[in-house]
Amino acid sequence: MFFVKKMIMALLGRGFFYPVSVSAVENIGEDFCVVEMHGEALKKVSWNPGEKMKIRIGKRRERSYTPLLVDRDEGKAKFVIYLHHKGPGSNWASNLKIGDACYLSESRKSLSFTPSEEGCIFFGDETTIGVAYALKSAQKNTGSFTFVFEVSSLSSAQQVLERLNMKNSKLVLKNKENSHLVDVQKILSQEISKGINPQLVLMGNSQSMIKIRNGLISLGFPTSQCKMKSYWSSR
Ligand SMILES: Cc1cc2nc3c(=O)[nH]c(=O)nc-3n(C[C@H](O)[C@H](O)[C@H](O)COP(=O)(O)OP(=O)(O)OC[C@H]3O[C@@H](n4cnc5c(N)ncnc54)[C@H](O)[C@@H]3O)c2cc1C
Repeated sequence: MFFVKKMIMALLGRGFFYPVSVSAVENIGEDFCVVEMHGEALKKVSWNPGEKMKIRIGKRRERSYTPLLVDRDEGKAKFVIYLHHKGPGSNWASNLKIGDACYLSESRKSLSFTPSEEGCIFFGDETTIGVAYALKSAQKNTGSFTFVFEVSSLSSAQQVLERLNMKNSKLVLKNKENSHLVDVQKILSQEISKGINPQLVLMGNSQSMIKIRNGLISLGFPTSQCKMKSYWSSR
């Protein structure tokens, strides 16, 4: 009895996944792919830009990804996936083909953020290009976005950002010692000083986000203006 209850709770905890199929795969260089999925359930899904979905990448495995867009009329969702080549999610995405069956979860809140008129300075990495695009596309009467990404390859990131019409983003090349974060902090400080009370969003790698946040706090930036959401962490 206890075992059955545990199984049901585990299933409920993992939530409901509905079937979709891959309708397009666009490989952008070696490090990114844009994947389009279609399914009847996507015609009814409730999704707000910036929210994530979980995708089944194997029998008992799922990973979080952020739709670039969800088109309920067409029952379609699109994702940009970073192929870091170090994990099952990345390997799953690099082998996707048109017609492959997939399972998506309901949309779930990820970053609690409402763009303001004062504008937003966004720091992230390759995994956050999708959420950056979704937030930018949703911006209507609010202030502008400035995007700063730390990346492992400038040329790969430029390619995908150009494809998504975000080529004005600022890129900083990562290094093993993380000394590039000094440059990131300089850029962010300059951008902050240009605006009046801008919001700051830090996303992506948790270690980078924490270093940047601590650096900016030591320069007097108010934590109340800073939203954070970790997408992955270096192990
Ligand atoms: C809410 C949310 C939304 C997300 N949206 C997106 C999205 O839209 N697009 C996207 O590409 N990713 C997105 N991610 C990040 C993605 O889920 C993680 O990168 C995840 O770890 C990938 O799973 P994996 O199986 O490839 O690697 P894992 O099995 O999780 O990790 C395997 C190894 O790879 C390393 N690793 C994981 N991610 C990276 C990375 N980015 N760079 C270098 N090494 C890495 C880990 O440290 C570990 O050593 C999102 C994450 C969250 C939490």
